[in-house]
Amino acid sequence: MTDDRDHLSCAAFQAQLAELIGTGVDISTHPHIQTCEQCRALLADLETIAEAARQLFPAVEPPEDLWEHIESALKDEENSGN
Ligand SMILES: [Zn+2]
Repeated sequence: MTDDRDHLSCAAFQAQLAELIGTGVDISTHPHIQTCEQCRALLADLETIAEAARQLFPAVEPPEDLWEHIESALKDEENSGN
């Protein structure tokens, strides 16, 4: 039924997956992904996780703007609260 000689098994592919991601290669074009729904779903999950991680740990942004907003908000509060 399955012909694994020309195709990686899912286990073999998934063993390479972390390394493939590390190299920054476009995994969506990988022959195994093209033919294996299960690993395509796995990759989608990984991309969702990676995207969430990028949002949790965004590239360093200087917080100066943020502090200005907080400072002016506090000043507004002082003025209106009196
Ligand atoms: Zn697979």
